[in-house]
Amino acid sequence: MFKLSEDQEMIRETARDVAQEVIAPLASDYDKKEEFPWKSVKQLQELGFMSMMVDEKYGGAGLDTVSYALAMEEVSGACASTGVTMSVNNSLYAYPVEKWATEDQIEQFLIPTISEKLGAFALSEPDAGSDPAAMTTKAVKDGDEWVLNGNKMWITNGGAADYYVVFGITDPEAKHRGISTFILKKDDPGFEIGPKESKLGIRASSTTPLTMDDCRVPEDRLLGQLGEGFKIALNTLDGGRIGIASQSLGIGQAAIDAAIEYAKTRQAFGGPIARFQGLQWMIADSTMEIEAARLLTWKASEMKDNGMKYTKEAAMAKLYSSEAAVRAADMSLQIHGGMGYSTDFPIERYYRDAKIGAIYEGTSEILRLVIAREAIGRF
Ligand SMILES: Cc1cc2nc3c(=O)[nH]c(=O)nc-3n(C[C@H](O)[C@H](O)[C@H](O)COP(=O)(O)OP(=O)(O)OC[C@H]3O[C@@H](n4cnc5c(N)ncnc54)[C@H](O)[C@@H]3O)c2cc1C
Repeated sequence: MFKLSEDQEMIRETARDVAQEVIAPLASDYDKKEEFPWKSVKQLQELGFMSMMVDEKYGGAGLDTVSYALAMEEVSGACASTGVTMSVNNSLYAYPVEKWATEDQIEQFLIPTISEKLGAFALSEPDAGSDPAAMTTKAVKDGDEWVLNGNKMWITNGGAADYYVVFGITDPEAKHRGISTFILKKDDPGFEIGPKESKLGIRASSTTPLTMDDCRVPEDRLLGQLGEGFKIALNTLDGGRIGIASQSLGIGQAAIDAAIEYAKTRQAFGGPIARFQGLQWMIADSTMEIEAARLLTWKASEMKDNGMKYTKEAAMAKLYSSEAAVRAADMSLQIHGGMGYSTDFPIERYYRDAKIGAIYEGTSEILRLVIAREAIGRF
């Protein structure tokens, strides 16, 4: 736990090299243009980082979750938009497809996303975010086809993916036990990808609504068993939260590094501002918080790798990391003074990017409910 293996250190170094040499120099431009970071994503696909935990027998990198957390942190410190793209493909698409798909579905829908195509995960709807069981998307069997109708919202990789894991109601009477999972292709008839949302942060990532208007797909697009959708969604989100915790670590650490560099060079009252103890304490607090967040994230990752239940640990990791990243970015922007408010320095991007960690894949409030439920139990 406290000492990374040689292989994990190597993954971290490889990720750091590609993040600093290839991804970081492109990040500001992609962000300003709100352009999907294809060059960065392609680079990660070449390295096998878009399917890090997929079994080698399918062409994945077959790595553990700790390695994934390490790579996610490095990539997200360079470009958080690329980070979320990587996280969704690994945790929210490849994971449920590998776990619940038939061999034929793996052939069709998993293998192409290992080095070439992207996947997305469509759970949220305009009126069902924190409460996904309130979804209204319906899937009705018609002969040997499923017909889907409904709207999804806020779907990461929406405009960039070829394949979508989509949740819909197949048995309205059964409440959350009546939700099932489907795999849709971007060119399925009746499936429409809406325009990219303009966002506060992670502006380069593609976030879109999706519409299914009598979208007909063959019956073998059902992923897992009928009625198993809610379980698939929650189990997938446990792993996703490790990815987002790591994304937050990357942003938080990048903000701290930027604060230190700036404080050592900026002069005031006859010397570098880093000599002021008030600023040193701000840096100390964030350094401690991000390190604590990293340990929570690695612990959740290792529990997942050991086949243990890690719902509470993943929720704690994401909640703490995302809130620590917001505080680190705020601290760093403050240390940058007026320059922190300018778009010439990356800190304003870290500041905008940090906030998303506390919203998607379970808001901070919902994660507190998850932690409390796990800690207290049902009574
Ligand atoms: C950039 C971006 C990317 C996203 N990517 C995806 C994706 O790829 N796939 C996907 O399916 N979804 C995605 N989402 C959706 C995201 O998961 C939801 O936005 C999130 O779950 C919150 O849902 P909501 O926006 O409907 O907020 P609401 O559920 O309306 O919540 C509003 C507020 O009420 C609070 N609240 C709600 N219920 C409770 C409660 N019981 N107790 C206390 N407080 C509560 C919330 O914490 C929040 O503060 C994305 C969102 C964004 C912004």
